[in-house]
Amino acid sequence: MPESPNPFRLITEDRKLSNKMETKGPIVVTRNLNKSYRRGNQVIPVLNDITFDIDEGEFLALMGPSGSGKSTLLNLIAGIDKPDSGTIRIGGIDISSLGEIELAHWRAANVGFIFQFYNLIPVLTAFENVELPLLLTSLSRKERREHVETALEMVNLADRMDHYPGQLSGGQQQRVAIARAVVPDPTIVVADEPTGDLDKVSAKEILELMERLVHQLGKTIIMVTHDPRAAEKAHMVRHLEKGVLNNVHS
Ligand code: ADP
Ligand code: MG
Repeated sequence: MPESPNPFRLITEDRKLSNKMETKGPIVVTRNLNKSYRRGNQVIPVLNDITFDIDEGEFLALMGPSGSGKSTLLNLIAGIDKPDSGTIRIGGIDISSLGEIELAHWRAANVGFIFQFYNLIPVLTAFENVELPLLLTSLSRKERREHVETALEMVNLADRMDHYPGQLSGGQQQRVAIARAVVPDPTIVVADEPTGDLDKVSAKEILELMERLVHQLGKTIIMVTHDPRAAEKAHMVRHLEKGVLNNVHS
């Protein structure tokens, strides 16, 4: 049970974009995923018959050597890229069967992204960066403001709303990115090495925030990481090696 009411509940109730479905059991279901890339006439297999589930409200860490296919797998789950074969169901929707435009709409409503290098838009303020995902919804300007303020308060940056990314530290920029990821109340949050560019203290803050997303907002997080301290925060760690998923630790 969440420790406190979900401050983003409003967003879920108001938005018309909602193509989410209530599900019981696993929220991410992948079956027999295969993916390879072509380099010239060479085929490079990257993911080999990946099958696994992620329960709603789970915090999963995905580890493994560089080049083992972690980002590729994360991108498939996030609907950024498509598998060569296999299926991915998220919140009851088979995203592997969606066309490009449907997939883009699905992604906007259902996936929050956190990247290693924050990926904020440098010419927009913290407020405007967090507001971006809401511009696609039917929320009014006033409602958007309320949601953005709530999200920035959650990451402790209410006093930096009008700052540009270049005026913020790495840790602060990543906190803005977390606010941006959760503001549309997504079904899943994916994070690719979210602490990879941060000092120890900032990394700890970011991980604590990610734990709050899980415990207070009931979010489901899939995090790629090299950092054993980051993996420690997760409920479950899975290892990817040469495109094969193994070694399950709870
Ligand atoms: P990881 O995140 O575990 O370091 P990636 O998923 O980024 O690994 O990459 C896995 C393999 O796929 C690597 O060998 C990489 O070079 C290759 N690869 C990734 N993306 C592409 C791409 N768009 N085109 C060609 N090869 C790629
Ligand atoms: Mg990677």
